[in-house]
Amino acid sequence: MSERIVLKARYILISSEEKIENGFVIVSNGLIEKTGKAEELKVDSTTVTFDFGDAIICPGFINTHTHAAMVGMRGMADDLPLKTWLEKYVWPTELKLVNRDFISKTVPLALAEMISSGTTTFVDMYFFEDLTAEIVKDVGMRAVLGEGIIDGPTPAFESSGKTFDFVESFIQNYEKDEFIYPAVAPHAPYTTDKEALLKSANLAEKYGVPLLIHVAETQWEFEEIKKLYGLSPFSFLESIGFLNKRVISAHSVWVDESEFDIIKRREVNISHNPESNAKLASGIAPLAEFLKKGINVCLGTDGACSNNNLDIIEEMRTASFLQKVKYMNPESLSARELFKIATENGARALGLEEKLGTLDPGKWADLIVIDLESPGLQPVFDPYSHIVYASKSADVKATMVNGRFLYMGGEFQTIALDTVLHNIKGIEKLIRKEIFNEA
Ligand SMILES: [Zn+2]
Repeated sequence: MSERIVLKARYILISSEEKIENGFVIVSNGLIEKTGKAEELKVDSTTVTFDFGDAIICPGFINTHTHAAMVGMRGMADDLPLKTWLEKYVWPTELKLVNRDFISKTVPLALAEMISSGTTTFVDMYFFEDLTAEIVKDVGMRAVLGEGIIDGPTPAFESSGKTFDFVESFIQNYEKDEFIYPAVAPHAPYTTDKEALLKSANLAEKYGVPLLIHVAETQWEFEEIKKLYGLSPFSFLESIGFLNKRVISAHSVWVDESEFDIIKRREVNISHNPESNAKLASGIAPLAEFLKKGINVCLGTDGACSNNNLDIIEEMRTASFLQKVKYMNPESLSARELFKIATENGARALGLEEKLGTLDPGKWADLIVIDLESPGLQPVFDPYSHIVYASKSADVKATMVNGRFLYMGGEFQTIALDTVLHNIKGIEKLIRKEIFNEA
């Protein structure tokens, strides 16, 4: 990783604001050393150079809400409302089948999917996160990992007390890691009681780590929290002192007029998951209003059982289109704004804006290359427009994390795809047998 390499392309997108045409990026020691115009490039002839030609080099995407291992349940239960989907399929599968073996066979598939569609950092809420951490480190991605906390047993622990003990030791183990960022992850206000929510918030505060939660995903949840506590979800969380800038709130579709100010004042980050919300018909989150209020919104895919992919490029496009239709306003949300949401805003939500989200010198060399020599991407007037409105994940040509290529020209550098594909067929067989009673 001490190698100094040069990447060249037609477009270098430093950030949502700044781009260089016919430019270069110098990467050394895992960091962005320098960017500039190709004609100003001064390196000796022995420096390794990758000239990507008609292509875009930009920061890698940050998927701020997913459940990586759920790729094992992709397409297993579609076209259902959230409550039925969870209670009849997802939770029974988790309690019966999700164990360390399941994680070891599903998470590598999720990482392969994310890397090949341009994601370099992801935020995960699931079970056996210590094992996920090892897999992520082996592959060389970055991840924020939060062991799922609910009232009662999970696939990993028999009680929430045991889960909390694990979460604290997991945080201590990875406190200084630059690839794994431990987090505290109570599932939602309707599955985690007040005491567990407060315990979670205190733990996140004690160690200065992100606090991940699903909030106000469905109208059912909105009404349920009102019934339980006499307040809508964000007002309830505010009343118990849960909300602050460590919180990354997934979904947040059902928000009362009065709650925008709470979210803004407490500097809560919203992880917008438009495809999952659309597929489960949970609703369309008021993204444009969040942004108007100056709330930090980032992007997530949610798990592959409710999306059904982990593709941030597609998620940007869907987010944009849904907002335009929701407000019947084509000017609502530009391609550049969406690009910022998927990169810089994600970094800010994780508290890693000094290290991630743009290609400014000194930041980690987490970047992707999008090939423009594709029938669907010519001609090129605006590279931001192409990323959001025209490109497909298959146009991602290379993905680099910390100065190391993890994916190049269709080949994974750190994942044995054959083994991963073989293993996932075993998971399919297992679910067919144990959940659908197929022979
Ligand atoms: Zn989720």
